[in-house]
Amino acid sequence: MPQYYIWTIGCQMNKAESERLGSYLEQAGYQATNTTEEADLIVLNSCVVRQSAENRVINKLNALKSLKRSRPDVTLAVTGCLVNSKTDPLRQRFPHVDYFFKPGDHPEWIEKAKLGPILPQHPSPSTFVPIIQGCDNFCSYCIVPYRRGREKSRPVEEISGEVKELTLHGVKEVTLLGQNVDSYGHDLPDKPDLADLLNELNTIDGLARIRFLTNHPKDMSTKLINAIAYLDKVCELICLPVQSGSNDILKAMRRSYTVEHYRQLITQIRSKIPGVALSTDVIVAFPSETEKQFQQTFSLLSELRFDTVHIAAYSPRAGTIASREYEDNIPPAEKRRRLNKIEQLQENIATEINAQLLGKTVEVLVEGQKKGKWQGRTRTGKLVFFSNNNDCLGRLVKIRIEKTSPWSLQGKVGVSSTK
Ligand code: SF4
Repeated sequence: MPQYYIWTIGCQMNKAESERLGSYLEQAGYQATNTTEEADLIVLNSCVVRQSAENRVINKLNALKSLKRSRPDVTLAVTGCLVNSKTDPLRQRFPHVDYFFKPGDHPEWIEKAKLGPILPQHPSPSTFVPIIQGCDNFCSYCIVPYRRGREKSRPVEEISGEVKELTLHGVKEVTLLGQNVDSYGHDLPDKPDLADLLNELNTIDGLARIRFLTNHPKDMSTKLINAIAYLDKVCELICLPVQSGSNDILKAMRRSYTVEHYRQLITQIRSKIPGVALSTDVIVAFPSETEKQFQQTFSLLSELRFDTVHIAAYSPRAGTIASREYEDNIPPAEKRRRLNKIEQLQENIATEINAQLLGKTVEVLVEGQKKGKWQGRTRTGKLVFFSNNNDCLGRLVKIRIEKTSPWSLQGKVGVSSTK
């Protein structure tokens, strides 16, 4: 039986697509292997969102040259954000690669096999489901729209059918994925939106939880906030990237909203969805960000108190508007200082937020084991560890929290679990 090896870096979308590609290959008669040496087919699922990620992909590709020389029969394919519609430059640069195919597409040798729907063969109790590909926004620092193309939504019936099928394989929770899930459906005939999709998925028997990411502050609607508030399976966790607390920087980033609008959105979300957890993304040291503008971001994060903040220091990406129009003029040491300052702030805030869960009982969906302990997440996305001798995988377990940290919680099984 031929063997395949998939190497994946980058976001959840890449992970979800690799999972599905693996399923396709298994339906086509391939078997998974963990080493490139044993593989007959090697697929690199690439990320170029940062220069460092692209460098890793290039290094990996170069490292595979000698393997391809010694075993010319091995098939080497590349997908992910390194591949856009013009593959000729890539073919010239990496002649040892047999196939380049765009993210979400399938290489022709798989298309020819005429296989059934691509679903993960061995899905985790919590599984990612892509609902919209691409992005129409062109934030000035971001390479994604150039690589993943324009927005393309999957029909509601297709997603719903897939989620039903996944529940038959033990999936309890789905996370709907898109670069901007708030623009889901605008390109479909009946123009359903994310709230309509959530309404449909909420009726699926056997499905316990629905999550989604990532939202965009300019597109998040009151209809969606109401749907999150009223649909019982939709989890109380919203990922809403703010990126900066300065309106001038947001304008330079081409984010199309103001800090005032963002703040009002958070107020609305918190008033309608009690106990909601909020996560955000921030980029510090955008070109020419002054100390005052950085302090505005710091103050906004102190005021809004997110459960999680993903922080990055700006790094230019060739091909983006920002790389053409702005000089990357903040010294590396200053970038690090700003990054560390936000990290320290967020660690303190997360410590305080999570400490409020001490002694409380939370519902955890168990996703696996790590270092001898079961691990899973609450509806609000908190990572919880506990010990138990029974097989807890895929169970919804009530856990009494006994220890908290900024990053995770630990507890004991409280009330009987359900499967
Ligand atoms: S919304 Fe902006 S940051 Fe997000 S993928 Fe689209 S262009 Fe990139």
